[in-house]
Amino acid sequence: MKKKGILFIISAPSGSGKTTLCSGLVDSMGGLSRSISMTTRSPRVGERDGMDYIFIEKEEFLKRKKKNEFLEWAKVFNEYYGTPKRYVKHLVAKGQDVLLSIDVQGAMKIKRLGIKTVYIFILPPSMAKLRERLVGRSTDSKKAIAKRLKVAKKELSYLPRYDYVVVNKVLESAIENLRSIVIAERCRIGRK
Ligand code: 5GP
Repeated sequence: MKKKGILFIISAPSGSGKTTLCSGLVDSMGGLSRSISMTTRSPRVGERDGMDYIFIEKEEFLKRKKKNEFLEWAKVFNEYYGTPKRYVKHLVAKGQDVLLSIDVQGAMKIKRLGIKTVYIFILPPSMAKLRERLVGRSTDSKKAIAKRLKVAKKELSYLPRYDYVVVNKVLESAIENLRSIVIAERCRIGRK
């Protein structure tokens, strides 16, 4: 029987360095692909359509949502984000492991669907450090930063629902921990 791929979900408060960690993990690991989400938010400087996200209009997102094209979707900071179902299913069926970098709402939706998934939570070293990173990023206003910190506190309450936690204090060590999780899950007995 062909071995199916493993689904990994990584969630983290905004500003935890999740994007860098996910890229570091996928780039250093064979057999692991990142799912590319669709979003209604505008691209940030340096982001490329079809690479970082698939950027679509709200109307199109809602149409796709209605057609049940998303494995999960969520409204985050007033914009829609969704995981394209077909692409992920195709990769998993091929035996490719897939990394979903999604928020806690989306992760909990997948949990409710009963899909076998490995849940990983990324923590910033501290709330003070998180604030520092958000301010340093200088893409958000003071008000937006305050909102992101408030949301981050709420997201942290979901930590016990996850299987693993990785603190992003030193980038290389955090990536090494993520790699170890993927390797351990690949060695797990009883995975179908
Ligand atoms: P950002 O706009 O900063 O790239 O992402 C904002 C939040 O949306 C992050 O927590 C990110 O993980 C989450 N996100 C990105 N894609 C998806 C998705 O397809 N589904 C869900 N539920 N959240 C997503």
